[in-house]
Amino acid sequence: MKVIETIAQLQAQSRAWRAAGHPVALVPTMGALHAGHVSLVRAALEEPRARVIVSIFVNPLQFGPAEDFSRYPRSFADDLAAVTRAGAHTVFRPSVDEMYPPGFETRVNVGAVANRLEGEARPGHFEGVATVVARLLGAAIPDRAYFGQKDAQQLTVIRRMVTDLAIPVEIVGRPTVREGDGLAMSSRNRYLGAGDRGRAPALVRALAEAQALYQDGIRTVTELETAMRQVLEEAGLPPEYARVIDPDSFDTPVAGRPWLAVIAARVGPARLIDNAAVDAGNLLAFRPVHHSASAVAV
Ligand code: AMP
Repeated sequence: MKVIETIAQLQAQSRAWRAAGHPVALVPTMGALHAGHVSLVRAALEEPRARVIVSIFVNPLQFGPAEDFSRYPRSFADDLAAVTRAGAHTVFRPSVDEMYPPGFETRVNVGAVANRLEGEARPGHFEGVATVVARLLGAAIPDRAYFGQKDAQQLTVIRRMVTDLAIPVEIVGRPTVREGDGLAMSSRNRYLGAGDRGRAPALVRALAEAQALYQDGIRTVTELETAMRQVLEEAGLPPEYARVIDPDSFDTPVAGRPWLAVIAARVGPARLIDNAAVDAGNLLAFRPVHHSASAVAV
């Protein structure tokens, strides 16, 4: 596995691949890799002749002062083994100085969609994300870049940026990879002790409840939101937010457009997020068990 640490070398590698007729793919990550990241690499490799760059960079710009930048899990040796097994071609592992050299002042501000929900909870977060992704796209010069639907608002912010700045790259969004009990895979799951790990699937159960109610014909946003909140509160996880929104604006949904259920909750030392299309029905297996009268009577 080739590990590249400078932007100049990555640009040279990308141009050489393109000149040899290979499409170039970028999978941006912060490391501490899991099966969700690997699924992005595999998706990138599906394109014939593709050359796949995985970037591993814990981006200080996207962490608030009270957030977990310094304790964010770092496991480079394991990450390298994982992307090698997955079949990626190059790892880009820049230093903070390489990404933000002295005099670096640009910040990419994407606008309204970046100011709601996660943007409100984490001021400056999406500015940090958009800025690092813009620089990574300039460094890797990819034809395609792969992102997880797990971070739905991030995906929308990046699509907005690429459209608005006419950056010539195709952004590919990929489905969320989950544990057997439905918990969305996340590097931050490593923070969870046994008790918190047991509580964490309440997030997916709440999303499943919204999908079940939608399938039963409920079309009232507040009713869906109240039901999600209730599932989380019953598990001892009062959410920071549990909302149904339009995935383009992250604002109030409208009839005839997709509805996305989005949740953020603190689970012990971790702040977890998850989301699902309300009409997808893909999470129904994780619906909370409701105690019917007959079950209680037994
Ligand atoms: P991160 O390392 O957390 O910044 O994530 C890097 C990329 O992996 C982002 O595009 C994430 O949305 C994506 N990702 C994280 N978790 C998952 C998951 N469980 N399933 C699919 N993609 C994921």
